[in-house]
Amino acid sequence: DVFYRELPKVELHAHLNGSVSAQTIEKLISRKPHLNIEHSMTAIGKGQRRTLDECFEVFRVIHKLVDTEEDILMVATDVIKEFAADGVKYLELRSTPREERDTGLTKKTYIETVIKAIQKCKEEGADIDVRFLVAIDRRNGTEVALETVNLAEEFMLSSDGLVVGVDLSGDPTVGHGKDLLPALQKAKNSGLKLSLHLSEIPSQLDESDLLLSLPPDRIGHGTFLHPEVGGSQSLVNKVVQKKIPIELCLTSNVKGNTVPCYSKHHFKYWYELGHPTVICTDDKGVFCTDLSQEYQLAASTFGLSHEAVWKLSQQAIDCIFGPEIVKQQLQEKWNDLHPQLF
Ligand code: 5GP
Repeated sequence: DVFYRELPKVELHAHLNGSVSAQTIEKLISRKPHLNIEHSMTAIGKGQRRTLDECFEVFRVIHKLVDTEEDILMVATDVIKEFAADGVKYLELRSTPREERDTGLTKKTYIETVIKAIQKCKEEGADIDVRFLVAIDRRNGTEVALETVNLAEEFMLSSDGLVVGVDLSGDPTVGHGKDLLPALQKAKNSGLKLSLHLSEIPSQLDESDLLLSLPPDRIGHGTFLHPEVGGSQSLVNKVVQKKIPIELCLTSNVKGNTVPCYSKHHFKYWYELGHPTVICTDDKGVFCTDLSQEYQLAASTFGLSHEAVWKLSQQAIDCIFGPEIVKQQLQEKWNDLHPQLF
C-alpha cells in the first residue's frame, strides 16, 4: 500500500547485522564462497517461525559473512539507503562492536567504519538523518560491557553527535542485568542515552525491575512486562510513571515465537493505555520485512485509521535520542508532508 511507503517514518530499533537485505547477503556470499553459506541460513521467510535460540544462530552465520572493514562499510551503507528508500527520515542504528583476529578488525575500527558509512550516505545526499547506538551483548559480562561503554563515551565526544547512546541486547537467556548495571549507570552518567531490551522472555521480572531503576530512556520489546502475560502491575506502573517509550517489533516477535500471533502482540496493551510506543523492524533482513510493512501490519491487525497511523509515526519523533533541533526539523518535515498524504 502506497500510503505506508510514503508515510514519513522514524526507525529506532534496528540491529545492523540483522538488517542486511537479501541483495547485500548475495554480495557478501560472493565475496566469501568458501564459507558455503546459503541464503536460507540468513533469513526467516514468510510464514516461517523459529525459536529465539535459532534466531541467534542466524546472527552467528551473518557475523561470519561480515568480518572486515569493507564488509561493514558496505552493509551499513546498503542498510541506510534501504531505510531511506522505505521512507525512513530518521534512523537509529545499533550494532555490537566486534573484534576479528583473522582480519585485524578491532572494536574501535568497527565503530569508526559504521560512522564512516553514515557520513558517506550524508555526503551522497540520502534524505535520512542517521545516529548510532553502541550495543552491549549481555552474554559477554561486566568487563566487556564497561569496555564498550568507554568506547561509546569516546565516540560520543568525537563523532559530531552521531553516537548518541548505548543498547543492551543479545541472547536474553544468558547472563544477568545486575552484572551490567555498573556499566549502564556509567553510560547514563556520561550523557549517553540508554535503550535496553527488557522482559523479552517471561523469566526476567527481577532483572527488569532492577534495570528500570536506572531508568532507561527507551525499552526494547518489553514483551512480558504486563500482568496479562505473567509480568506485573508494579513493572507497568514504573514504565508508565517514568513515561519510558517502548520499541515494538511485531514480525520479529511473531517469527521469533515470543508472541503467539499478530493479534496477541503487546502493541495492543500499550497502545490502549495511551503509552508512547514506537513501531520498529528489529532485524529487517533476518525477518524479511521493512518499516512500511510493520506499520501496515499494525494498522490491519488493530484496525488503525490512516490518521491514527500518521499520529503514531509523528509521536515517534519525541522518542529519538538525537538533539532537540533534530526533533524540530523532523516535525517540520512531517508538517510539510502531511498534505501530500491526506
Ligand atoms: P549486530 O549487533 O551484530 O549489528 O546485530 C546482531 C546482534 O543484535 C545479535 O547478535 C544480537 O546480539 C542482537 N539482536 C538482534 N536481534 C535481537 C533480538 O531480537 N533480541 C535480542 N535480545 N538481541 C538481538
